[in-house]
Amino acid sequence: MSEATNHTQPEPTGKPDAPQKIVRSEVEWRSLLTQEQYQVLREKATERPFTGVLTQNRETGNYHCAGCGALLFLSDAKFDSGCGWPSFTLPAQSTAIAEHEDMSFGMRRVEVTCARCGGHLGHVFPDGPRPTGLRYCINSASLTFERAK
Ligand SMILES: [Zn+2]
Repeated sequence: MSEATNHTQPEPTGKPDAPQKIVRSEVEWRSLLTQEQYQVLREKATERPFTGVLTQNRETGNYHCAGCGALLFLSDAKFDSGCGWPSFTLPAQSTAIAEHEDMSFGMRRVEVTCARCGGHLGHVFPDGPRPTGLRYCINSASLTFERAK
């Protein structure tokens, strides 16, 4: 491994509270991620439903980006949607994630990515529980879980 793992680049035009972006080559990402993580985060794959290790996780703690470690979701916002992927009603901070219109597969969906490293996380749907009414449907492979101490 080289010291290429800590390359952060300043974001002069971003919002003042936006996280600093992490830019890595695809070769670097391949060396840092498992094959499953790479396919989800960098190639926008979707893991098969009910296969992710964090889908049924009910422990208290924090969910971080598997690509860059950014805090993305809190266990307080996790709920059992029954859809087969970890589901959250809101991100840990609105600046932690970025949303993009996704017209693939003949559907209009809103893709969710990590604001810091650009990794694909999943999609957000307007059918979640109150009060947000949102369901952030996130691939387990794009997350790491840190149990509360
Ligand atoms: Zn990230």
